[in-house]
Amino acid sequence: MSRYEMIPVAEAMTIVRSAVRRLPSEEVETREAAGRVLAEDVYSSENVPPFRASTVDGFAVIATEGATTLRVAQEITAGEANRPAVAAGTAARIMTGAPVPDGADAVVMIEDTQTADGQVTIRRAAKPGDNIRPIGVDIAEGALVLRAGTQVGISDIGVLMTLGQTRIQCYRRPVVALLSTGDELVEPGEPVPAGSIRDSSRYALMAAVREAGGVPLSLGKARDDRDLQTNLVREGIERADVLLTAGGVSMGDRDFIKPALEELGTIRFGRINFRPGMPLTFAEIGTKLAFGLPGNPVASLVTFEVFVRPTLLRMQGMPNPERPRVEVEIEHDFAAPGGRTEYHRAIVRWSAGKLLARSTGLQLSSRLLSMTGHNALVILQPGNEPLKAGTQVPAILTGPLLSAENLGV
Ligand code: AMP
Ligand code: MG
Repeated sequence: MSRYEMIPVAEAMTIVRSAVRRLPSEEVETREAAGRVLAEDVYSSENVPPFRASTVDGFAVIATEGATTLRVAQEITAGEANRPAVAAGTAARIMTGAPVPDGADAVVMIEDTQTADGQVTIRRAAKPGDNIRPIGVDIAEGALVLRAGTQVGISDIGVLMTLGQTRIQCYRRPVVALLSTGDELVEPGEPVPAGSIRDSSRYALMAAVREAGGVPLSLGKARDDRDLQTNLVREGIERADVLLTAGGVSMGDRDFIKPALEELGTIRFGRINFRPGMPLTFAEIGTKLAFGLPGNPVASLVTFEVFVRPTLLRMQGMPNPERPRVEVEIEHDFAAPGGRTEYHRAIVRWSAGKLLARSTGLQLSSRLLSMTGHNALVILQPGNEPLKAGTQVPAILTGPLLSAENLGV
């Protein structure tokens, strides 16, 4: 019997959540800030546009002069400023984005004019303000433009750059140390002796860390040697904010991760009522967090998705660390989940007003192909009855929905 009580998934989530602290902020280059979370309110110190700008190519005029013929007194292209005022009886040829000169209060688009012999005939009278972007219409000076806690998106980079804010304060990204364990592991690309397998979990987890905004730090793979693994766990905890190990957390004679975590810190839980990944182990070591993930690649990735990913997002101050949770209708019968809460990899599509889910097939925790193409984890409560097609079940969306026509691969 395991020394660790098997706790429900919700309880494990609460324990992890209450251990997470947001990381401090740091100054970063705006150009590299996409996806990061602002740690400061950003105010505009300027009006955008800072001058009255023409929105069309045409003629700057005095609106009250109406549909008439005017002398073209000057030409103004974008980037030019301090041009003479427009006087009665004249117009200024003006390009999109150029400052509208004093005197003029409207721009007539070129399509509504006719030019000949240095004169322009206005065929349609303008109203004051036509085709002029007033000062500050896009962003007013002093306005709060982005709040602390905003995840910097693509357009936000544009907002910051238009205001000249080339550096901003963002929460730090967590450094995540990764260690895989097992005498049987060989480096992908190396020859594989009989009885050995390639280390896939560490590389998949490193990609998952990056996707979650973390900075992976690989500690390599460790043989099943208690002292070696304990030393590497210690090194990971020293160098990173979070340590992830893969393997060595079950009941085998050579599973040394739980003892190592116990020696260095406090294990908060060592077993959860969860499939795939019952032996997931969570420990606090000083102010650092350690997750002993199961070795099987699917179990390590699904426990990462459910427990580690939201943790890494919270550390970065992310406003929305949780995936969307929805109700889906299963398209075919699902086998009974048995004694544990099952996070079943599925493909969800939007069809005729409903979210329909179908399984990715055999759910072995070693079968990485059960994750290929999945965009949801369907949550099946413990039970011995199969679930009939048409049943509604909760799911978390881990990727974009498929359209009705697209059945995936
Ligand atoms: P363990 O928890 O160490 O007993 O590992 C459970 C299963 O996952 C065993 O079949 C291991 O060979 C396999 N496994 C462990 N670590 C990895 C890894 N990094 N990559 C792929 N498979 C692994
Ligand atoms: Mg092992």
